[in-house]
Amino acid sequence: MERTELNALGEFGLIDRIKSKFTIQNTETVTGIGDDAAVIDMGNQYLLLSTDMLLEGVHFDLSYVPLRHLGYKAVAVNVSDIAAMNGIAKQITVSIGLSNRISVEAVDEIYEGIRFACEDYKVDLIGGDTSSSRSGLVISVTVTGVVDKNKIAYRNGAKANDILCVTGDLGAAYFGLQILEREKQEYMANPNMQPNLEDKSFLVGKQLKPEARADIVHELAEAGVVPTAMIDISDGLASEIIHLSTQSGVGALIFEDKLPIEDITMLTASEFNISPITAALNGGEDYQLLFTIKQTDFEKIKNLSDITPIGYMTEDKAVELVLKSGAKASIKAQGWNHLQ
Ligand code: ADP
Ligand code: MG
Repeated sequence: MERTELNALGEFGLIDRIKSKFTIQNTETVTGIGDDAAVIDMGNQYLLLSTDMLLEGVHFDLSYVPLRHLGYKAVAVNVSDIAAMNGIAKQITVSIGLSNRISVEAVDEIYEGIRFACEDYKVDLIGGDTSSSRSGLVISVTVTGVVDKNKIAYRNGAKANDILCVTGDLGAAYFGLQILEREKQEYMANPNMQPNLEDKSFLVGKQLKPEARADIVHELAEAGVVPTAMIDISDGLASEIIHLSTQSGVGALIFEDKLPIEDITMLTASEFNISPITAALNGGEDYQLLFTIKQTDFEKIKNLSDITPIGYMTEDKAVELVLKSGAKASIKAQGWNHLQ
């Protein structure tokens, strides 16, 4: 029997391999594997369904992640996938694998965070599963959502000349993680130290408590704009632009000087000697929305404060970054590959 290592395929290669072995058998299944959420035809509306799992030691480190934030984040990242279809999240189920390190009070804390998120995003916890775990804490959330059929935004609808927009700012969550990791190293070297995260609270907050941009779905609806394509930025701008471009069969040109990066992110980037552009492109975990709109819709969104146009889609398939110097660099997906 042949043996292929997982990292020979990578996460996306593995998903493609799984997908290729299945055929859709129900006419209600509009979209299966391959977008931010599955799409199911409910007659007058589409039902959206998505799931995301957080594993201790892979996605979070309990030495610096408060359980309450973890619960919140587990819900937020799922709601983000519904927002990425231009949908409204409605229900969640939560499955947890508990190691013997977790007390009842710790479970309470996790569910406090889940409850906050349920209130913020107006979703209902309607079920789940509970098991013991021998390899640390596991939280798996499944979310449902709804979207009007004429408002759904897939990853594959972008057309040449559409304007590419991003919400919020990029790269902050990556530096939040770098700061937490640095504090952890310092703490292990000297347990008496008092962490000073005061002036970095913005960055650390973006890492520990990301927000799903459900608000943008409402803003776009109010502005009367349906994105031609949309994806949420979980792995990093580079990886997500490549998903949008490849699945839409177009290219993209983005501009370095248009990327929304906060001053504190810039400052911290130089402190860590890491390019803020690299962090924005490949850092991941920003959970902002990346979407394309028709040029004729630009007037309707141009005054919305938290949406930044960063480039446009192109006829030829290249995905490129125009540097401040005017030179062009090709964008490669690095993203977070948890399998490597
Ligand atoms: P996202 O980053 O938006 O959560 P992923 O990259 O995790 O999306 O997944 C991409 C697509 O692959 C989604 O449609 C997801 O449902 C599907 N997928 C991921 N893992 C599996 C799996 N083990 N089996 C079947 N489908 C999967
Ligand atoms: Mg997604």
